[in-house]
Amino acid sequence: MNYEGSIPLTQQNRVENYAIVFSKTGMEDFNLLIDCTFTLRFDEDSTAVMRFGGDAAYSVGALRVTVSPEAAWHYDPEAKTIAFTAPTRQPRRIRMTYVYCNLTSAFVYGDNGCELWEPSYGENFYPYVFGDRSLFDVRYELPAGIVPLGGYPTQECVGKGNTRLFHSRIPETVVSHSCVFALLDTTRYRETVHLLDRDTLRLWFMPAPEVPAARIDELHRLTRDATAFFAACFGPYDDTRNAIGGHPVYLFHTSGYSNRNNLNLISASQEKFAAKPHLLPLAHEIGHRWLGEWTLLIPDGAEAAYFIKESLNEYMTLLFVRATAGEEVFRSLLETEYEKPMQTVRGTVADARLIDMRHNDNNTAVYCKGPVVLDRVASRMGYDRWIGFMRRFYATWRYRPGLAYPSFVGLLARDDPQAARLLDSLVRTF
Ligand SMILES: [Zn+2]
Repeated sequence: MNYEGSIPLTQQNRVENYAIVFSKTGMEDFNLLIDCTFTLRFDEDSTAVMRFGGDAAYSVGALRVTVSPEAAWHYDPEAKTIAFTAPTRQPRRIRMTYVYCNLTSAFVYGDNGCELWEPSYGENFYPYVFGDRSLFDVRYELPAGIVPLGGYPTQECVGKGNTRLFHSRIPETVVSHSCVFALLDTTRYRETVHLLDRDTLRLWFMPAPEVPAARIDELHRLTRDATAFFAACFGPYDDTRNAIGGHPVYLFHTSGYSNRNNLNLISASQEKFAAKPHLLPLAHEIGHRWLGEWTLLIPDGAEAAYFIKESLNEYMTLLFVRATAGEEVFRSLLETEYEKPMQTVRGTVADARLIDMRHNDNNTAVYCKGPVVLDRVASRMGYDRWIGFMRRFYATWRYRPGLAYPSFVGLLARDDPQAARLLDSLVRTF
């Protein structure tokens, strides 16, 4: 069956019509008061289980839940779930208020004046069913000096006293776990709007370390080139049905932590950006517009989940290098920055099989071994044929729940059974 262009029907979704207020007023750093209302449907099962919560002891406090009409609920902090059980199939409108403490964001960003709110790394700061799509109406109540950034587009409304209000109504159903955003202290971050030909790029910087103007220019060109490459492989960047438009905004922070893409936001270390010899990690983040956790709905914990969500994207980023800088540069990069680090851990406990990459917990396996293995297959198939296969894979599985590693190899087997056998044996045994 060809699913190209199709999006799961609303009827299949269990949770609909979120109305969420994220309030920062009077809250400590990395804490939000959250008021989350949604409609929950019950199909054959009388119990619906949603992902909810982060750290079992600290993430969720002062939880109050009201269900109308009445239904039983149970929050399990260890399992990071909240379950609702109803005696009838009638949909329930559920309202949850709680304080959420985002420990992951605190550990990563510390005293940086920015907080990233995203459900990655097990911070489920609002309840959702993985793989669902839903409408969102989101409000932010923020103290003066704080703005929401990225995620889905927001508009500022008239505030009350010292509180600034921002509103985001997403006109289409979007992936339920994709309501992510950064909160930014504007007394510590400055916005730069960079112009290249008539194209604009928005970036937020800390005062230090200083970033040379030429570097920003380089990033703008890279953003344009990487976008053009991935768009030629997978289709346009803009996608109004999924509330994706224009270039992402870049947020450079002083955490040394790696980059992450949150749909319309790319966050990265300013130190690395100012000093690192090449900007390839940022092209990888551009690639996540098409390949990664917001489009490929393979759940964490499934076999080879991070081979699918990360290695494929990293390898496509290398093929972007091949397309723009040529075969020689591509080959030497593959050898020095992928093959070599992979060989360094070969035979040690850090040398994991790709099939075991159920969580993003081994950079050498996910980001080095993955691309090395993929190149062994793609170089035999021919790069154009490989890209053609990747296009079909993306078109078949984007936004489609139920993706599993065997579906990926199975699809490859239809194009090239020999390549699929080689890939599968490398993923399972190498
Ligand atoms: Zn990534």
